[in-house]
Amino acid sequence: MKKNTAPTETATARYLPGEEIAVLLPLPLAGTYDYRVAEEMTLTAGDFINVPLGARKAIGVVWGKGEGGVPESKLKDVLGRLDCPPLPEVSRDFVDWTARYTLSAPGAVLKMVMSVPEALTPPKPVIAYTLNPKPEPFKPTKARERVLAVLNDGPPRPAAELAREAGTGSGVVKGLVDAGALSPVNLPARAAGPEPDWRLPGPDLSADQDKAARPLQAATKKGGFSVTLLDGVPGSGKTEVYFQAVAEALKQGGQVLVLLPEIALGAQWLQRFQDRFGAAPGQWHSDLTAAQRRHTWRAVAEGQTKVVVGARSALFLPFADLRQIIVDEEHDTSFKQEDGVIYNARDMAVVRAQLGAIPIVLASATPSLETVLNAESGRYQMQHLADRHAGAALPEVDTIDMRAEQTPSQCWVSPSLRDGLAATFANGEQAMLFLNRRGYAPLTLCRTCGHRMQCPNCSAWLVEHRRGGRLQCHHCGFGAPPPKQCPECEKEDTFAACGPGVERLAEEIADLFPKARTVIAASDTLAGPKAAADLVRRIEDHDVDLIIGTQVVAKGYHFPLLTLVGAVDADLGLAGGDLRAAERTHQLLYQVAGRAGRAGRAGRVLLQTFMPDHPVMKALKEGNRDGFLKAEAESRRQAMMPPFGRLAAVIVSGPDEAAVDATARSLGRTAPTGDDITVLGPAPAPMALLRGKHRRRLLLKTAKSTNLQGVLREWLARVQPPRKVRIQADVDPYSFL
Ligand SMILES: [Zn+2]
Ligand SMILES: [Zn+2]
Repeated sequence: MKKNTAPTETATARYLPGEEIAVLLPLPLAGTYDYRVAEEMTLTAGDFINVPLGARKAIGVVWGKGEGGVPESKLKDVLGRLDCPPLPEVSRDFVDWTARYTLSAPGAVLKMVMSVPEALTPPKPVIAYTLNPKPEPFKPTKARERVLAVLNDGPPRPAAELAREAGTGSGVVKGLVDAGALSPVNLPARAAGPEPDWRLPGPDLSADQDKAARPLQAATKKGGFSVTLLDGVPGSGKTEVYFQAVAEALKQGGQVLVLLPEIALGAQWLQRFQDRFGAAPGQWHSDLTAAQRRHTWRAVAEGQTKVVVGARSALFLPFADLRQIIVDEEHDTSFKQEDGVIYNARDMAVVRAQLGAIPIVLASATPSLETVLNAESGRYQMQHLADRHAGAALPEVDTIDMRAEQTPSQCWVSPSLRDGLAATFANGEQAMLFLNRRGYAPLTLCRTCGHRMQCPNCSAWLVEHRRGGRLQCHHCGFGAPPPKQCPECEKEDTFAACGPGVERLAEEIADLFPKARTVIAASDTLAGPKAAADLVRRIEDHDVDLIIGTQVVAKGYHFPLLTLVGAVDADLGLAGGDLRAAERTHQLLYQVAGRAGRAGRAGRVLLQTFMPDHPVMKALKEGNRDGFLKAEAESRRQAMMPPFGRLAAVIVSGPDEAAVDATARSLGRTAPTGDDITVLGPAPAPMALLRGKHRRRLLLKTAKSTNLQGVLREWLARVQPPRKVRIQADVDPYSFL
């Protein structure tokens, strides 16, 4: 074996016995390894194969022709080919591209593709039994007769099922098989469900929707790479518009990928898809069983599953014939993966579309600044949906100046917001209070000595979850019951909760409106799609008057009776030195506001703020999204920040603080220099301790035209970190923690 560092050719070729091939393994190694095609074996590029790796056996992918240079005696034979469709060339190109862009090992990206190794072998058929038409004579018993009776009026069944239905043991069934009364038949491992049908008539589109849908459909029909921003206010019917492109791709016989954030909460989206296409799409997210993942991965590779809706990792599924990609809520930061291979699925989806020469649609009511500027410069097409569908008016947005309100201490609902809620309930309508903080209180403080309860593993306060009776870290998952004594001054019963979380807000509401039926919607109270679907049903059935929610309720939902939305702390996202703090706060509040008044009833939005003159609050109040984006773009242009310049973060982490510091300093000393290159740091990260690891950050900033990856690669090659210290590059960072 020899390690190759240069990328190898990707053309589909056949490799005959004795030929050398390059094999990529799903491991964080620098390149491919050479192997020899064994006797009586023919391989093609993309084949999944078993190879020896040291004393072990590993599954890899034929990446191309061998690099050569390995002595004949050292070269090992491929052990065998797996019975699975080869990984298509475009998928292999995508692995290489993603690895180069994110400075990751290609094998680490391949590991994301091969996320379900069990799916690489075909599912075993299920053995079922049917009546033997010409049975040998056998001894009848009561139990045996019951088994025969079950089969007399039913399809073949597996032994266990047969025994259960006949109310007997599996020994009886086996006895009948041995006696020749039953014969085995193979059933497919899993019956394929119905696939989405593009022939079904869609809903009647408004003139606006139709106008936006036609170019999307045309792009899909024509094929070739194109990016279209589908920009429409909440409630304007974007989903129905891009469903037209989905229908067109299905008509062409191709596959479609729809990327959505927080898929677990997409119950309403799935229902709309089902209504439109008569069948459910394939799903890909963290809340699937191992069997579901295996089935879907294989069905996508074989081209059986036509539409997949999923979270970001669905992008790395081995599509046999992908013809269309949709990224809904394209601005959403959950598309950024922050662990392992650090990538932005929205950006990589555009690359995937380009490599596959297919169209991609980016949909949002609050598109990211990057995407808007790409559309304005003509790199992307743009389709606008200006009006809400079905005549619903946009909600009226008002700010509540908290400096002027007489809000009692330890309370967070101002008199103005309280009046708004009272009027809404009196009208028999629903309201939503938005507070992007889980739990009861974000900080627990000792009243005697001022000690703050902090996570032992992170630079973060512990959040009290009173319903669960625990203090929890939202970064590492650490949790413990609140101690009786202060760990610092040892005084008992001295803790005070500081600030509100959704649980505490619910307590305040219970005092203000004892009759209001309230529900808390946060990621920890809504575990999984079923809980989310139940909540949606309760709200739709008007079993709920008030929803108190975090960002999990900010988007996608449509509740006809919901007419008032109150943002309890509209300023929350503006703190901190995040490049996109203002943009994100605007997006989030705009999305939340969009929940109000969607079905002919006038909606109202109240933003509680201590900064009513902040550009974000003014833009929301005046409904001037484009003006806000313009001002935001101008300030980024002046600072040469993305998308006008390029950024990469370098994070040094490890358990030993001195070693982390030393590595960070040597990165600082060897930092690249140049006219358009700036390096900031090293500095302790805002989360200087995370999951028990000390962290230091450096930030590389370059001009847009600079080859950022090249600069970064050379720089990182100059520093060899000691064992247990990790250097991680984050190209186009979204998190500055
Ligand atoms: Zn104390
Ligand atoms: Zn922690």
